[in-house]
Amino acid sequence: MLHRTVLISWYGNDSLKESEKIVKNRMQTCFNKMQAYKELVKMQEINIQRVMSNLEEIYQCGKKENGECDRLAFSPEDVKGRKTFISYFEAMGIHPKMDAAGNIIARIEGTDPSLACIAMGSHLDTVPNGGKYDGVLGCVGALEVCRVLKESGETLRHPLEVIVFTDEEGARFGSSMVGSSSICGLSGEFHEDDVDLFGLRREEVFQAYGIHTAFLKDAERPADSIRSFLELHVEQGISLYREGKSVGIVSSIAGVTRYEVTLEGQANHAGSTLMGDRKDALVAAADFIRQVPDIVAQWGEKYTVATVGAIRVEPGAVNVVPGKCIFSLEIRDQDDAVMTRIFEKLKGCLEEIAARGNYQLGFRQVSYHAPAPMAEEVKNAIRKACEKEGCPGIELPSGAFHDSLLMTARFPTGMIFIPSVDGISHSPKEFSREEDIEKGCKVLLKTVLELDRSLD
Ligand SMILES: [Zn+2]
Repeated sequence: MLHRTVLISWYGNDSLKESEKIVKNRMQTCFNKMQAYKELVKMQEINIQRVMSNLEEIYQCGKKENGECDRLAFSPEDVKGRKTFISYFEAMGIHPKMDAAGNIIARIEGTDPSLACIAMGSHLDTVPNGGKYDGVLGCVGALEVCRVLKESGETLRHPLEVIVFTDEEGARFGSSMVGSSSICGLSGEFHEDDVDLFGLRREEVFQAYGIHTAFLKDAERPADSIRSFLELHVEQGISLYREGKSVGIVSSIAGVTRYEVTLEGQANHAGSTLMGDRKDALVAAADFIRQVPDIVAQWGEKYTVATVGAIRVEPGAVNVVPGKCIFSLEIRDQDDAVMTRIFEKLKGCLEEIAARGNYQLGFRQVSYHAPAPMAEEVKNAIRKACEKEGCPGIELPSGAFHDSLLMTARFPTGMIFIPSVDGISHSPKEFSREEDIEKGCKVLLKTVLELDRSLD
C-alpha cells in the first residue's frame, strides 16, 4: 500500500501502471547486478599459474642431474614431495594427518556434521624416470580446489578431504596401491618380508616412513565415511589428444585378465633338422602373435586391447630349435563379456595352430581384475560441470589402473581425465598442456560444487 502511495505521488494516478513497470524494471536490473557482483565476490577461479608452479615444485623433488625425475614411493624424494605438498595446506591453516597406511589426509569441515565427506585425491610417487603429471596433477588440482573455496569464503555442506595415496605405482615391491588398498580393507596382500628393488624388507622400509605392515588395516574406512571420491588424472593414452578434447569422463577402469600360455613342440638340432621336420614352438607362437591384432580388430570393441608382452623359449640356445615357448597373454576391456569373447577367439586360434602342427597347448590364468565402472551420479556431476565450463567431455574407459580402481569397490567414485600429449606417460616426455590442466581443475571444482549441492 505504501509503495503505491509513493508511486502516485511521483507519477500521478493516470500513469501509475506504466510507472510501476518502470520501477519494477529498474529494481530488477539493480537486483541482477547485485547478484552478479555477489557471485563474482563469492567464487574465485582456479589460479592456473599457482597450479603450474606447484606441479613444477613437486617435480623438482626428485629431479636428477640428467633432467629426469625419480620419486619412488618411500624414497627421500617421495618424503620431500609429500612435505612440500603438506606445506601448501599448512600455509592455508589446514594441518593434514597421516593415517596408518601413510596416506596424507587434509580435511575441511562442512556446515552439516551429519554428512559424509566428498574426497578428492591421487598419488605423488612416480615410476623410475617418471613424468611431471601422473598422480601429481590429481593432488595439486584437489589442493587448488580447497584454496579457491577457502579464498572465496565458501563452506560446503559436506566435509571436503584431499587424500594423497601411498605407493600407487608399486615400482619398488611390485604390488601397487598400498594406500588405497588399505583404505578399502585390502591390506592383507602386503607382507613384512616382501623385498624391494634394492633388496630391502618391506617392514624396514615402512618403519623409516613411519608406518608398519601390521597396522595397515587400521587405515580401513567404512563405506559411509566417504560419500563420493573424485580423481583428476592425465589420460596416459592418446584418445583425448587425438580427438582434440580437453576433458574426459571416465566410464570405467578396464578389467584385466592375464594368462600364461605354453606351446610345446620338439627341441632338436638346429643344423641337422630340416625345416619341414621341425616342431618349432617359437614359430608357432609367432604365428599366433601375428594374428592377435586382427582378432581384436574383428571381435573387439573400440577400446579392447590384447598384448603378448613377455616371452621365453626353452632351451633358449642359438643352435637348438625351440622346443617350448612360454608367453604372457593379457586382455583388457571395460566389459567382461567382451574380454571373454576375445579370450575365446584367441584360444580358438591357438588351438587351431596347435592341432595343425601337433603341439601341446597349455593355459594358466595368472590374474583377473573385473572392470570397475564409475558411479553414475558422479559421472553425471562431472558431465554437468563440463557443460558449465563449456568443454563437453567425452566418455572413455581407463586402460591403466589407478587408486580409483579400488575406491570404486567401496565408495561412489568418478575420474576426470585430461589429455596426455601424444599419449605418452610413465616417461620424462609425459606432457599435458596448461590450458587442458586449467580446464581439468575447473571441472574438478565445479564437480565438487555440484556433488555438494546434489548429494545427501
Ligand atoms: Zn597415476
